[in-house]
Order: sequence, then C-alpha cells, then structure tokens
Amino acid sequence: MPVLFVEVDNHTEPAAVVAAKIDRYRRFFLRQVKNDRGHDVPLWSTLWDDFSRGGLPPVALVFTKDVGAQARMNRIKTIRDLSRTCWQPRWQNPHGWSPNASEEDGWWEFTGTVPVIATHLDQLRTHGPYGPVWWRFGHSDWQPITEALTNTGTEEEYSAREDRRRQEQEAARAMEDQRRREEPAQWEATWECPSCQTDVELGTVGPAGYRPTEGGLCPACEHTRREEVQQSVAVDDMAGTNGILARLKARAEGR
Ligand SMILES: [Zn+2]
Repeated sequence: MPVLFVEVDNHTEPAAVVAAKIDRYRRFFLRQVKNDRGHDVPLWSTLWDDFSRGGLPPVALVFTKDVGAQARMNRIKTIRDLSRTCWQPRWQNPHGWSPNASEEDGWWEFTGTVPVIATHLDQLRTHGPYGPVWWRFGHSDWQPITEALTNTGTEEEYSAREDRRRQEQEAARAMEDQRRREEPAQWEATWECPSCQTDVELGTVGPAGYRPTEGGLCPACEHTRREEVQQSVAVDDMAGTNGILARLKARAEGR
C-alpha cells in the first residue's frame, strides 16, 4: 500500500470544509525543505517513503455514515466539485496556440495535483482495500486502488502516440522516396523511334503482336518497314518469275 493520507468523513462537516482539507493537504505536499545536500525537496518525502508513483501523495476519503447510496454520491460529487483545483490535471499541448486538428493531441499534466480517492466503509468491509471500491475524482468507475491511483492520459502515453505517428510518417516518406527513385527508371524505358522520332515506350504492342525492343522502331514505322520488305520480296519474285518466263520464251524461240 503506497503512502496514503486518510480522511474519515462521518458527515458532520459541510462538504466545503472537507474540500478545504484536501486543499490543506495539497499546500502541505507542496512545501519544500533543503535536504542535506542543500537541494529543495518536498517536506513530505522526508517524512514518508516516496513510493516512486510520481506526483503528490494521494488522499483517501472514507465515508462512514449510512445515509443511503444517493445521498452519499451527492456528497462525494459536491466535495469533488469543490476541490477540483486540487486534483484536476491540466491539459497540455505542444501546439496549444494552433487550431490545427492534427496538433490537438496532448496529455494531462498531473504535476502539483493531489489524487483524491473516495470510498465507503461498508465497501471497504465487504471487498477490502484492494477490491474495486475506490472512486478517483476525475475517473468514472469504482476501481482497485492501483488502477485508481494510476494516472491516465499522461505525457508518456502522448509521447508513445507521437513516436508511432513519426514512424508512420517516416515510412510514408520512405515509400515516396522509393517511388521517386523508381520514376527515372520508367523514363529510361522510353526512347525516340530512330525513324520518325516519336516516343516509344517499352511494353507497347503494335499490329501483328509487334513489341518494340529498346531503341527499336515504333509500331507505325515497323509496320511500314514490314510492308516495304514484303513489296521488295514481291518485286524480286516477279523479277525472278519474269526471268524464268523470259528464259522459257527464249528457249521456245530457239535462241
Ligand atoms: Zn517511327
């Protein structure tokens, strides 16, 4: 059990008096003294063991009078509201001045605040001090004491989120860099057709399944070239045929 300052409330004092007691605890916890090295340290930490929870020691309000659940809750809530300046952490934001939504994330700063936990004697008797019998001001549930005294929404949690965001941004940047590095390679996969100087891209498919290789003719020029080849072959054939015919003719004429 950590160092815990217990206030027993038997419903005899006004709620404002109980709230004022919490404030007296806070001012006491903030008192500093010189330690033997001449450093300022909290007075309370020289009297009780610091349990390295961080922050100021908690105050436990134990309500004893059986006034019914509703009346009890009303009293707890009244004391909570009257002592808000003692226990409520401050919302911190590295870009507090900016209306930018992406910069609104932040954390609760608990420095200088007193954690206040409340319970009722009946609950303590039934479940013991480690049962879910503690309601911490600012929390919404009855919790076991360790959970109740654990600060949530802290700067550490914020830093972890920041680290994750930074990693995601770096990964996105790395992907963008890679994309840019690969872009020139795509440009190198295009060239000018040596015949007509239009751009030819690798992977182009022309008529008759023609796929230009790097530096080769564009599909249009390749088509023209093939037609020219076919024509010259035809001319050659004709010339050849003409030659045979001419020889046959000459032979027939007895030359
Ligand atoms: Zn061409």
